[in-house]
Amino acid sequence: MARARTWVFDLDNTLHYCTPHIFPHMNRSMTEYVMRHLGLAEAEASALRRRYWLQYGATLLGLMKHHETDPDQFLHETHQFPELDRMVIREMGLRALLHRLPGRKVVFSNSPERYCRAVLEVLGIADLFDGVFTIEHTGYRPKPDVRGFRELFRRHRIDPRRSIMVEDSLDNLATARALGMRTVYIVRRKPGLLRVRRPGYVDLMVTGLREMTRCLPQLR
Ligand SMILES: [Mg+2]
Repeated sequence: MARARTWVFDLDNTLHYCTPHIFPHMNRSMTEYVMRHLGLAEAEASALRRRYWLQYGATLLGLMKHHETDPDQFLHETHQFPELDRMVIREMGLRALLHRLPGRKVVFSNSPERYCRAVLEVLGIADLFDGVFTIEHTGYRPKPDVRGFRELFRRHRIDPRRSIMVEDSLDNLATARALGMRTVYIVRRKPGLLRVRRPGYVDLMVTGLREMTRCLPQLR
């Protein structure tokens, strides 16, 4: 392993598993936000969100473009988790796995900073990261937009050729690779995993951080 390597970790569905509890809650909060602020019924709000998702990659971007939505207000209202500690699902031994991983570690998430830091605290790994780079820091240009990545490199003095992106989103990994990073694809779905083909821009495809640390020699 080379020294001064930087690991860039996505948060949601990479450092913790949020499909069962957190994502449904977030999804509901976003639809309710659209209903409340645009005066829409639930079906209309869902349809609008779907359209903005397809067109811009995120509900927020469509709301900003067409409704002058304040991004900070949106992120604040849609990321309220009064029982976060009971909703977060972690991989066994997560802290030890990250602690043993040589190199600098940074989080790069499309979620807001306050939520990301709260999740890292619940996971008990906040102190292991040198930086938490979130949607606010990208100028609301979420992954896979290259501009967010470039701002991350600049602000945290990361050489993309000496860094590794760990992610559950293939779109984000494609951008990471185009910018020179090495890539680890986290696939949580165990059943049928073998039928998921590894795209050319993915260096390593694993089910979690434990398997990733076992496969590190393949990342040289
Ligand atoms: Mg993710």
